[in-house]
Amino acid sequence: MKELNIHIDIRIFPYEELNAADRELIDAAREATFRSYSPYSHFSVGAAARLADGTIVCGSNQENAAYPSGLCAERTTLFYANSRYPDQAVKTLAIAARNEQGEFLEDPIPPCGACRQVMLETETRYNQTMRILLYGSKGIYEVKKVGDLLPLSFDASAMQ
Ligand SMILES: [Zn+2]
Repeated sequence: MKELNIHIDIRIFPYEELNAADRELIDAAREATFRSYSPYSHFSVGAAARLADGTIVCGSNQENAAYPSGLCAERTTLFYANSRYPDQAVKTLAIAARNEQGEFLEDPIPPCGACRQVMLETETRYNQTMRILLYGSKGIYEVKKVGDLLPLSFDASAMQ
């Protein structure tokens, strides 16, 4: 028997300790929560992607009465970024969320599994790691690459 141990490094920053560019991206993700369409969950998620050329693209969760037809903020953002700016890698993705009471979550918002899969393919597509900033009012998690959020992941190489 062998054992495989997977280690993930996450740095936790107070907002004030982030550099100006990351604070700007967090602010954009927070603002995007106010453009969420979430009449069913009342859970408002916003995401902001910084592209290689510095452009910031935002998105929010978009729900639908046919629940599976809706889409998370992360995928809304990445699909828009990739379709509008297909030549620009996504360098950093920031995510923020507000609860039913309209308050930002205290703990960092984790992306769902489907979004992690799409985030991973975005990294693969541009052959560049993508940093992830998960906003919580008590602290912000910085994850250096999507693979850290999705170990033992499935990608195109698994089909060969
Ligand atoms: Zn998701």
